[in-house]
Amino acid sequence: MIQDLIIIGGGPAGMTAGIYSARQKLDSLIITKEFGGQMTHKAVDIENYPGFDKISGFELIAKFEDQMKSKGVKVLYDEVKELKKENDIFIALTEGGKTIESKAVIIATGAEPRRLDVPGETEYVGRGVSYCTTCDGPLYNGKDVVIIGGGDTGFEAAIFLNNYANKIYILEYGDTIRAGKDNQEKVSAIEKIEIITSAELKEIKGENFVSQIIFKDRKNGEEKILDVQGVFVQAGYLPDTEFLKDLVELNERKEVVVNFETFETKTPGLFAVGDVNTGKVKQVVVACGEGATAVIYAYKYINK
Ligand SMILES: Cc1cc2nc3c(=O)[nH]c(=O)nc-3n(C[C@H](O)[C@H](O)[C@H](O)COP(=O)(O)OP(=O)(O)OC[C@H]3O[C@@H](n4cnc5c(N)ncnc54)[C@H](O)[C@@H]3O)c2cc1C
Repeated sequence: MIQDLIIIGGGPAGMTAGIYSARQKLDSLIITKEFGGQMTHKAVDIENYPGFDKISGFELIAKFEDQMKSKGVKVLYDEVKELKKENDIFIALTEGGKTIESKAVIIATGAEPRRLDVPGETEYVGRGVSYCTTCDGPLYNGKDVVIIGGGDTGFEAAIFLNNYANKIYILEYGDTIRAGKDNQEKVSAIEKIEIITSAELKEIKGENFVSQIIFKDRKNGEEKILDVQGVFVQAGYLPDTEFLKDLVELNERKEVVVNFETFETKTPGLFAVGDVNTGKVKQVVVACGEGATAVIYAYKYINK
């Protein structure tokens, strides 16, 4: 059976597309590895989603998911490994061995945490190296930790880890920190947080678990050591677009180029919304708006 629409990805963009597709009475299917996307990495409350003064990422996602499922949207928990288009029909091939055909597709695959590619990183994942502060922060009660990345995500991670860790370092590669004023003010009020700028992480070391990191002070080239038991990598996110191959045009950051009125890619009937496209503002409310818009244009494409 050929679906009207496949939505790939179950973050805010994909779930909103799901809600809108149900209201358009499209026969649609969401294929996603899990629901929530990056919101599940959110360490502190969300304070900029309309309707909620403060809400945790998990709570907001649960509300999205309940609303979407109550509309009867079909869900397949799987990962799309390949997408192709033959004779005007899209064909999605999944990790679980499924082949799903559809008239139109919305890509809402967001982004994955960026890895650092330093010695010790892969070796110590789950043994001191973490990409998710909310998931792993409580395991570092009373321990000394370092956060790699001085942007808003790194600062929010530090604010969250203040509930658990004994000492928190924030290591920033640049000469100045990138976090916004709001987060800078919150962090400066916490004594146990120390910010180190112009610092290039060189290696993560330990035995069974992480015990130290080595970084280069970029101002004088000196190598320095920090004794820490946890390394939280907050070095940005990379879009998940490998599986799209020639169906889309990508920019240098591997984000999908779209028409920002319709969110259609260079392939008719294929749309890309949320953090996966080249849009500069990567926020929940933006991802939701794009998911909604794309469904309206997908509906027009399907019924043309
Ligand atoms: C720590 C942190 C804090 C943030 N704080 C805020 C904030 O306070 N306010 C705000 O507005 N925004 C915030 N953001 C940004 C916000 O989370 C993102 O803009 C938003 O989640 C983007 O939604 P998305 O649906 O485009 O992608 P994502 O949230 O990345 O979701 C993508 C989904 O697609 C799935 N997927 C990926 N590839 C495949 C595949 N091949 N097959 C099937 N499924 C796939 C993933 O599993 C995931 O479920 C924050 C982000 C982070 C990381």
